[in-house]
Amino acid sequence: MKISSLTPVDFRPTLRAARVNPPESRAVQEPADQITLSALPASGDLRRAGAGAGAQAAAASAGLAGLAMEQPLRMLLIGPPGSGKGTQAEIVDQFFEVPHISTGQILRNEIQQQTELGKAAEEYVKAGKMVPDSIMLPMVDNRLEKEDSFILDGFPRSIAQAQHLDATLSRLNKPLTCVETLEVSDETVVKRLKERGREDDTEEVIRARLKIYHEQTEPVMAHYQEQGLLDHIPAEGKVPEVGFYLVTCLNKRV
Ligand code: AMP
Repeated sequence: MKISSLTPVDFRPTLRAARVNPPESRAVQEPADQITLSALPASGDLRRAGAGAGAQAAAASAGLAGLAMEQPLRMLLIGPPGSGKGTQAEIVDQFFEVPHISTGQILRNEIQQQTELGKAAEEYVKAGKMVPDSIMLPMVDNRLEKEDSFILDGFPRSIAQAQHLDATLSRLNKPLTCVETLEVSDETVVKRLKERGREDDTEEVIRARLKIYHEQTEPVMAHYQEQGLLDHIPAEGKVPEVGFYLVTCLNKRV
């Protein structure tokens, strides 16, 4: 399903039909096949000061009446390439009007426009390697200074980046709400990415990106687990099912 065809209005019936098994630690009480968005616990209503009329209407149509978060949502989305980070971030953005910051997308735009930053990053991105922190850290800091709420997708990818991010957010007095990790197997990743067919989606580059993910990015999860911020989202399923898990977890965090 293309995200452009997934409006909040048609999201609800799809979710209603979805059979899901929430993670045990966050189990919703109803039997799995009766869970709908409207069954989300009222006590954890998603509220955000100044939520736009569009988000309010979307939430109402999805059964999330009264959407208006008191706290800004500041969320990290972690997962291997092909886990659906971009798609899920767009769903959260559609519902809650939280800006989606994708470091991979920023880099691809810079490369396309052949800016100085783009030229410096190009070889790394094509090879599926980590773009050096001397480029990444100022780029992310710059953007975070401008946003009060955000879904950060693709950053941090290493403990060093996570430590830097913690320091930046502490300096800006913008504490994180939560860190959501999308969990899929390597086989699923390879299958999905070959179908997607982006320039850095060849099997060799996919394997390189997966290796970096396991070696450098997975330790980031323990870092945020220790801070009590981590939720695990099973992400092998269909887009709306994964979205449902994500929204359920977010509902408990805000
Ligand atoms: P993505 O769209 O998140 O899969 O990122 C595409 C590519 O951009 C990655 O394979 C890296 O080359 C580069 N990239 C994105 N985010 C980062 C980051 N946080 N640190 C280093 N390189 C990154």
